[in-house]
Order: sequence, then structure tokens, then C-alpha cells
Amino acid sequence: MKPSTYNITLLSGDGVGPEVVAEAVKVLTRISELFDFGILFESALIGGAAVDDLGSPYPDQTHESCKRADAVLLGAVGGPQYDGLPKELRPETGLLTMRKALDVFANLRPVAVDGVQAARSPLRPEKVAGTNLLVVRELVGGIYFGTPSFRNDFEGVSTMRYTRPEIERIARIAFRYARDRRNKVTSVDKANVLAVSQLWREVVQGIHDAEFEDVQLEHMYVDNAAMQLILNPRQFGVILTGNLFGDILSDASAVLPGSLGMLPSASIGDSSGLFEPIHGSAPDIAGKGIANPAATILSAAMMLDFLGEKAAATAVRQAVAKTQLDGFLTADLATDPFLPLTTSAFGDEVVKRLQFG
Ligand code: NAD
Repeated sequence: MKPSTYNITLLSGDGVGPEVVAEAVKVLTRISELFDFGILFESALIGGAAVDDLGSPYPDQTHESCKRADAVLLGAVGGPQYDGLPKELRPETGLLTMRKALDVFANLRPVAVDGVQAARSPLRPEKVAGTNLLVVRELVGGIYFGTPSFRNDFEGVSTMRYTRPEIERIARIAFRYARDRRNKVTSVDKANVLAVSQLWREVVQGIHDAEFEDVQLEHMYVDNAAMQLILNPRQFGVILTGNLFGDILSDASAVLPGSLGMLPSASIGDSSGLFEPIHGSAPDIAGKGIANPAATILSAAMMLDFLGEKAAATAVRQAVAKTQLDGFLTADLATDPFLPLTTSAFGDEVVKRLQFG
């Protein structure tokens, strides 16, 4: 039986992080009342804020809190004041350390573009409206972690390495999610050149044939995928790929809806779930109360899905969509004749539109 009270660790982080997390907390608090479950929040430090207070971007007590929690909700880390710090103290190092320590191996980034966002997209609205894809990126392996990895004055070496079990577990996640998304997986690799991609392709095909024959599978080279994502994003259901290609393709797909402030993400493992907007700490707008909290609120919806509260998750997504359709928009999306809302006012409008059932 699912627990009636969930323990959530809040990592607000730096810059706009605390501003957008506060709005997600508002929404989670109200939705838990409507759907009759409990949420206990515990705040912990990460990133620059953790370096300032505790001398580490991912302190032990933060890790302990994350391990104890049913899920973790993160704002963003980083800022220009930390740029000169040595690598082990950089806010982004805290993030990478956390992902590895929690073994959240699957990064999920949904990209859905409705009419409001299509109008702000740098691409033609008729090309992007109706896009509804999910990038499933392997997050704790591949070239970011492969050894040998070194540089000297003459050469630099990074190693792209994947093992069969690493590919199998991420492939299974992609196929499972595809069942709710057009029943289609596009596995992206560079198998025409890279040995590691040849293994990737073979293993993905094997998992498909043995366990997910009902799901449509196609393989695509990463260079073509980058082009197709811009030319015809509506063709995709789930894009399954490794760490490096996923990093690049998910940022490319983030352009489609016209604002970084709309895009949520989840990073899940066998026992942990980490939920965060894809944007950074946005130092240029931090402290002004104008950041779009939708990406963080939608990340909280993904968290509710992960916790098994599917109906509550759907209600949150519907409330965000309704808020924007009603013309309540933050500065990143607003155009005349609507006046932009503050971060907090947008959160209030979403809360007003939350409905049970
Ligand atoms: P960014 O995502 O912070 O900002 C890029 C642009 O998008 C900025 O103009 C910003 O104002 C805008 N933007 C971002 N979020 C927005 C929101 N919610 N509403 C409205 N506009 C929004 O990327 P950056 O400027 O390259 O990086 C800033 C800092 O964030 C750096 O220190 C970087 O390392 C860090 N960063 C952290 C993460 C993370 O925590 N996961 C991700 C990316 C970057």
C-alpha cells in the first residue's frame, strides 16, 4: 500500500531556485489537501548556498536527507560569484555528485508545446505546436564518467564506455514510458562510427525483441536526430539515448517551446527520484520575482507521478495549462495585451485552478 504521507527533501539552491521552489511548494501543499495525502518537507542545502554555509556543494547531511526522502525537489545551482572556485567546490560539481550518489541513472525530459508556447517558439508555430516528446537520457555513465579520462599539454582523452547492463536498464525505462507516448521509441546513437554505439544498438534491439515487441522501435544516427528534432519534432514519442548525445539533444529540444521556464525534468533510479526544472539559476533575473515557476511546478507533477499520485499529477498539469490559456503568463511568455505576472502571482493562479477529479 502506498504511504499516505511522503517525505520530500527540498533543495532550493541558488539564484531563482528558492523563488521557483516556493511556488511548487504552494502547489504541492494545496494538491495534497485536495487529494488527501500528506507531504512533509525537509529543506537542505546544495550548490553555492551549501558552499557558503557548509564548505561543500553537496554536504553529507544533504545526502542523508535525500537518501531518507521519498523524492527530492531541486531548484537550480550556480552563479557568477562561484565561477572562480576550484572544481571540487563548484555548485555544478554538487549536482553531478548527487546524481551519481543517488544513482539516478535515467533522466527524463518531456517537451510538450501547446498553442501559447508555439507562438513564442523561435521555430514556426505550425511546425512545433502539438509536439509531445520525451527524451530519456542515460545519466550516470558514458563519456562523462568513462576512464581513462585525463589531459596534459599534448593530449586530452575522454572515454565513452557503456556496459550491457547499463544499456539494458535505461532501454527498459524508455520502452515502459513509450507505452504512454505514441508507443514509439527512437534510439539515437552513432553506430556507423562508434563501437560503443554498435553495442548500444544491439542491446536496445535485443531488449525490444525480448520484452517490448508491442512498442515501435527505430534507430537514428545522432546527427540526423539533431536535424529531425528541428525539422519535424512531432514525429517523436520517446527519444532514448546516452549521456553526451542526450545532453545535447535535450537542450536542442528545449528551444521548441520558446522558454526554458516551461521545461521540467526527472532523474530516477531504482530507489531515488530527483525532480528539477531544466533551467539554471538565471542570475540575470534572480531576486526580481519574475522567473517562470512553471518548469518547477511541472517537475513537482512528475514527482507526484513517481510517487504514484497520478490523478494529482494530472490535476497540476491541467492547472498550469489552464492558467496560461487564461492569459496569465510570466514575462518570458507574455505578449501584449497581457501584463506579465510575477513568479508568486503565477503560482497563486495555478493554485486557484487546482481541482479534484
Ligand atoms: P540559465 O538556464 O540559468 O538561464 C538562461 C536564460 O534563460 C537566462 O536569460 C534566464 O534569465 C532564462 N531563464 C532561465 N530560467 C528561467 C525561468 N524560470 N523563467 C524565465 N527565464 C528563465 O542558464 P545560464 O545563464 O547558462 O546559467 C546560469 C547559472 O546556472 C550558471 O552558473 C550555470 O552553471 C547554472 N546552471 C545550473 C543548472 C542546474 O542547476 N541544473 C542548469 C544549467 C545551468
